[in-house]
Amino acid sequence: MSPSVIEEHIAKVRAQVEAACQRVGRQASEVKILAVSKTQPAEAIRLAATQAQQQAFGENYLQEALEKQALLTDLPLEWHFIGSIQSNKTRAVAEHFAWVHTLAREKIARRLSEQRPLDLPPLQVLLQVNISGEASKDGVAPQELKALAQQVAALPRLSLRGLMCIPEPTEDALAQRAAFAQLRKLLIELQHLDLGHPLDTLSIGMSADLEAAIAEGSTLVRIGTAIFGARQRGAVSSSHF
Ligand SMILES: *Cc1c(COP(=O)(O)O)cnc(C)c1O
Repeated sequence: MSPSVIEEHIAKVRAQVEAACQRVGRQASEVKILAVSKTQPAEAIRLAATQAQQQAFGENYLQEALEKQALLTDLPLEWHFIGSIQSNKTRAVAEHFAWVHTLAREKIARRLSEQRPLDLPPLQVLLQVNISGEASKDGVAPQELKALAQQVAALPRLSLRGLMCIPEPTEDALAQRAAFAQLRKLLIELQHLDLGHPLDTLSIGMSADLEAAIAEGSTLVRIGTAIFGARQRGAVSSSHF
């Protein structure tokens, strides 16, 4: 994709976020845009950063992310891990990312806390909730969320920032909102537990459901396709595993 196209796409996403905020009486500054760069080359990330001042990038595949990070150390980027975490990969995640959106197991949380380097700030974590039930196996079940949040909150090197979900894809705007509303309700319940953590983040909304997410209180939208264009099938190669 040509340089100016990425810049244009980011401008368009920012305008979309602004319009969606305006419609529901929110400030655009309350909603952070995470550019999801999985399968995209390091050069595309560089363009987004240097031409459009995009700072936060989301990656799903560890090996691929580490390779790109190594090519971009001259830029002040904030890296978010948004893929599923295997327990033998926690050390690299703890060492190379500022945020994790997909925490759903206590064992993984414990390892991330133990392995977070002391010269870095605490790892910012979100608990991924399996809102749509059987549709996706990833995420903690809503009825187990409270117990997991209490365990994570007790870990010294993690800062529990909030919740994330990936609802079952649907074009029905009301169904999109209903799923996001459930997550918002769960976050409010956690806030009432006074866990001693910020709990200020709702990571909801992707390219196709950004409006609904912002209407339901999203503070962070994860946008891939609308910024970088369609991902090529098979582009991930072996770094997938
Ligand atoms: C790929 C991905 C996104 C971005 O999806 P788009 O539809 O390309 O905007 C957001 N969140 C997660 C967890 C993803 O894996």
